[in-house]
Amino acid sequence: MPKLLKGRELAGRVRSDVAESVLRAGGRPPGLAVILVGQDPASETYVASKQKACEKAGIVSVLRRLDTDASEGSVLRVVSELNADDSIDGILCQLPLPPRISPSKVAAAIDPDKDVDGLHPVNVGCLWRGEQGLFPCTPRGIVALLAEEGVPLDGASAVIIGRSNIVGKPLAAMLLRENCTVTLAHSHTRDLPALSRKADLLVAAVGRPGFVGPSFVRPGMTVVDVGISRTEEGLRGDVDFDAVADTVEAITPVPGGVGPLTIAFLLANTLTAWKRARQIS
Ligand code: NAD
Repeated sequence: MPKLLKGRELAGRVRSDVAESVLRAGGRPPGLAVILVGQDPASETYVASKQKACEKAGIVSVLRRLDTDASEGSVLRVVSELNADDSIDGILCQLPLPPRISPSKVAAAIDPDKDVDGLHPVNVGCLWRGEQGLFPCTPRGIVALLAEEGVPLDGASAVIIGRSNIVGKPLAAMLLRENCTVTLAHSHTRDLPALSRKADLLVAAVGRPGFVGPSFVRPGMTVVDVGISRTEEGLRGDVDFDAVADTVEAITPVPGGVGPLTIAFLLANTLTAWKRARQIS
């Protein structure tokens, strides 16, 4: 069996550290506002988990619901109200949005100091420039888990499959900061299995259950499975776990691997935004 990289324990620690910092600092609690447009069942579940996690950490969560047929202008108006609200430190807009609302316009409207999903162009720029900012939660969780588990990154060759703004691209920037040599692969990449097999670290963020099979891996490799797909057999990752388990050195299981870290780092980002707003170091 490969080593299992389970994010649950680290996520629990991050969450209790956030709760402790909130208690210790006292005063006005941190506030996180979530904008939810429509009633996508998966989004409802994610938002409910985020709210519950906030409550446990002493963060006030505010849900701003808009109808499925809400206009882009009405979403932008909610964003600007929340930008101006001093009790709100973090703002995120749950994705996916209905097709007529541009996720990049919404991201660019959020005050970069409250942008806890790290999607505002200023934060994206800071990440690539190696400067401070608020950065996307899932890739932050992945890098923290790899560090926690002692996976060597300096000089390692990393292949990331998937180039989304929320996972693939920011993870590429973060692994570059850790001195990995990064290849960002996607749906147009030629001979993906051969490219993947050369990696020391293979990250799958595709959203296709069981996409990464035995032809993608080699002995000694660490595999991070970001994918979460709801199938008839339950939650499935992008990696065909049973088919690669005998070969790879270490792997994140689904569920229980990367998943729990996303919300933990959302709380951590909210704490950071709150501390900056109150000038607490
Ligand atoms: P996305 O749909 O925005 O991006 C998918 C990427 O996969 C694209 O860049 C595309 O180029 C690439 N791709 C698609 N088909 C491909 C193919 N045949 N070959 C190579 N590349 C291909 O997805 P996303 O938002 O980055 O999410 C990816 C997966 O990760 C989803 O299953 C999502 O649910 C999951 N996810 C999990 C967490 C978590 O907390 N664990 C957080 C975010 C996303």
